[in-house]
Amino acid sequence: MDWEKVFATRAGRMKASEIRELLKLLAQPDIISFAGGIPDPKLFPDQAFREAYADIFATSAGEALQYSVSEGYPPLREWIAAHMATIGIPCTADNILITSGSQQALDYLGKLLLSPGDTALVGWPTYLGALGAFNAYEPTYDRLDPETNRSASDYAETAAAAGGRVKFAYMSVDFANPTGRTMDRAARERVLDLADELDMAVIEDAAYQALRYNGEAIPPILALEIARKGNIEDCRTLYCGSFSKSLAPGLRVGWVCGSKRAIGQMVLLKQAGDLHSSTLNQMAIDRVARSIFDDHVAMLRGVYAERRDHMLSALKRYMPEGVSWTHPEGGMFVWLTVPPNLDGAELLAKSLKTQRVAFVPGRAFFADGTGGNTLRLSFSLADKETIEEGIRRLGLLLAG
Ligand code: PMP
Repeated sequence: MDWEKVFATRAGRMKASEIRELLKLLAQPDIISFAGGIPDPKLFPDQAFREAYADIFATSAGEALQYSVSEGYPPLREWIAAHMATIGIPCTADNILITSGSQQALDYLGKLLLSPGDTALVGWPTYLGALGAFNAYEPTYDRLDPETNRSASDYAETAAAAGGRVKFAYMSVDFANPTGRTMDRAARERVLDLADELDMAVIEDAAYQALRYNGEAIPPILALEIARKGNIEDCRTLYCGSFSKSLAPGLRVGWVCGSKRAIGQMVLLKQAGDLHSSTLNQMAIDRVARSIFDDHVAMLRGVYAERRDHMLSALKRYMPEGVSWTHPEGGMFVWLTVPPNLDGAELLAKSLKTQRVAFVPGRAFFADGTGGNTLRLSFSLADKETIEEGIRRLGLLLAG
């Protein structure tokens, strides 16, 4: 069978990452890994989940094991709507669609908004998983850089030359994956100006929103837009939230919040895609969020903040001249820029041989394939001693 002949053109846009093979080596016990951008499983609220699942099976097994509505488990949508109000986004359960992780929301938004050749504005770099989700819908990417004053007409003309129009801007807004940077308020306002001028949607990826360790919270883009327009129904921003970093990623529960018109259309995609997210897991998240969300997130902030501090202090002590890095106020990532003659993928190969330290080379996060001299480090999984030793070794690698 010549599969190439039957694969759709979109399949050609879905490529396995060049570094996947290297990252398989991470399972070896002597490797210090700063590669995985995942929560520390030792911090999962497993006791709360044990009790929630026991209670669900004792009281509501039939409901939990049954099909349920595509919009999501109604009490959980209510809880999320109330939670959104606490971060400056007044809305109702009708403005919420529950998705199987926020990753599914990105896939559905690509499906909803992109025809082949349309343009998606993304950061250089941006979340690799967003590029992966959007790629299937065959977009062209253009660089969103709210700090420059590139005009709306320039974006529009570039998109027309590529055979479509600008459909949305996508951003990981707080403590971004991969850079750890947070968009300031002026940049968020600028994106909203651009969105009005280009008549495009805004996809606000807030996966790390709850994990702020210091500094003042900046209102979500959707909150700023509601302040401009008076209510959520007139807004073009779609906010993607997730319980993956705050409670547990394995249950695959996230959400999208936006105008009823857009959410209603996404419900149709959800119906066609997987009918609904796991009823049982939504019920468990609902119970656990109601009983421990704030306390649990406060605990996570304390632990991760310390790890971030250890990593930043070790970087200061061990990095050679010519290496710079970000100072995240939350999340899980620090982003290193190394001298332009170095290449992240080559450094990783060498590091695994000589220093036994792993990280993610930055190039894959750039839609244009640049960024060879960047590395993503995650501090979420390692304790103080491991961070110290890993960064010391990384310093030797980069000095050598
Ligand atoms: N957005 C960003 C920026 C992420 O880093 C991730 C996960 N690493 C996701 C979305 C997807 O997370 P989930 O599907 O678990 O909500």
